[in-house]
Amino acid sequence: MATATQETHSAPVKVKRVPSETAAEPKRYVSLDAYRGFIMLILASEGFGFPALRGDPTWSGIAHWFRHVPWEGGVFWDMIQPAFMCIVGLAMPFALARRKELTATEGDNFRHVLVRSLHLIILSQIIIWVESGAIKLQLINVLSQIAFTYTLTYFLLKFRGSGRYIIPPLKMRMLNSFGQMFCANSVRYEQRLACVFASLLLVALPGRTQNQPVRVIAFGAHPDDCDLGAGGVAAKFAALGNKVKFVSLTNGDAGHQSMGGEALAKRRRAEAQEAGRRIGIEYEVLNNHDGKLLPTLEVREQVIREIRKWNADIVIAPRPNDYHPDHRYTGVLVQDASYMVIVPDLVTDTPPLKRNPVFLYYSDRFTRPQPFRADIVVSIDDVFEKKVNMLDAHVSQFYEWLPWTQGQFEQVPKDPAERKKWLEVGPLASRKLQSEWREALQKRYGAQADRVQHAEAFEITEYGYQPSEEEIRKLFPFFPDR
Ligand SMILES: [Zn+2]
Repeated sequence: MATATQETHSAPVKVKRVPSETAAEPKRYVSLDAYRGFIMLILASEGFGFPALRGDPTWSGIAHWFRHVPWEGGVFWDMIQPAFMCIVGLAMPFALARRKELTATEGDNFRHVLVRSLHLIILSQIIIWVESGAIKLQLINVLSQIAFTYTLTYFLLKFRGSGRYIIPPLKMRMLNSFGQMFCANSVRYEQRLACVFASLLLVALPGRTQNQPVRVIAFGAHPDDCDLGAGGVAAKFAALGNKVKFVSLTNGDAGHQSMGGEALAKRRRAEAQEAGRRIGIEYEVLNNHDGKLLPTLEVREQVIREIRKWNADIVIAPRPNDYHPDHRYTGVLVQDASYMVIVPDLVTDTPPLKRNPVFLYYSDRFTRPQPFRADIVVSIDDVFEKKVNMLDAHVSQFYEWLPWTQGQFEQVPKDPAERKKWLEVGPLASRKLQSEWREALQKRYGAQADRVQHAEAFEITEYGYQPSEEEIRKLFPFFPDR
């Protein structure tokens, strides 16, 4: 950074023109200025209040992008976007000037930039659509970023088209040589090319995988259990590009007052998949019968397979103390799998995990033999609506079966918007932030803890990997910096 700053200060005043530089060369790389400006903005933003905004539900999503993550070495992939942006920026003054020479008018150039940017945005939306299975306008992605930067730089070039040199002629020639390296003359420069790639390799070698998403798998007995216990945290993980899967061990075919069997199982599978789609996660419903789940070897192996296939870092399940036998046995089954996932001689059709994941319990209210202990409490204020929206997909449960079991069936509003509000006072009311969670909340949110309204809590089981505080913060990238 030091060299770059020096250049900026010294270059405009006393740059002597080298005779070989001709007037035809561009006067100023405004695109490079813009690029440098964006980088400086991002660097500076870490000090200018963005960290403080991370606890704010409205801004935490945006503030998170400006978080400076600990350096763990680069990987080649890290260089793709900066390198691409740099090349686009460097090429623009040449390309646009040349287009203008070749009869294109300023209007043509503008249309050209606009059409290209639109293509990039449309392409990004198609990719999002294919990846998430949902049609939604989402402009925060690499391709859209390139499109916006490209358009913005076009305007900067248009209105600041002439000016002083920002790059001394000597550097200009180096840049030109760099360009030529990628052209027909590359043979001449092959030694330099080799140097460039060797240094890239050196940067990449110590690199681990800092950008690898956290992989979370949550188990429930029925197709709505995971949603209640971890729907908010799942939405937060998914929003940051992490991978979350919910698995229901039974198909829920006994959970209704007037339907049952295959028809109900089909309906609930569709509801679960819709719920998963609404927050951007996968949802799988296994075909074991509702109300008849037993901790058999067969189901244990299903659980081991699921955890292994997902290559999970975090596994969430109910505690084995619960009023419902299906919930109890889901707890037992995941406990039973929690060491076996790394044993190669078991379930040999699916490769074992290299490391035991962190196993967590959902929160519950049961006190025998011991009450739930809140080890990790995550604020879900910023995704609370998403969680409500997720539960809203389970029509057969939250608007039909559960109210019926509680004698409240008649009270369920018919209007879709009213129904959602009813969810907050009905099923979610029993999942409110408990006073016993405050300590764990304060530990990681500090003063912001008092403002938290909705949260999800988890207990770390003794049978999985025991994460340090540092590792907890890495696995749950939601807490404000210490
Ligand atoms: Zn259940």
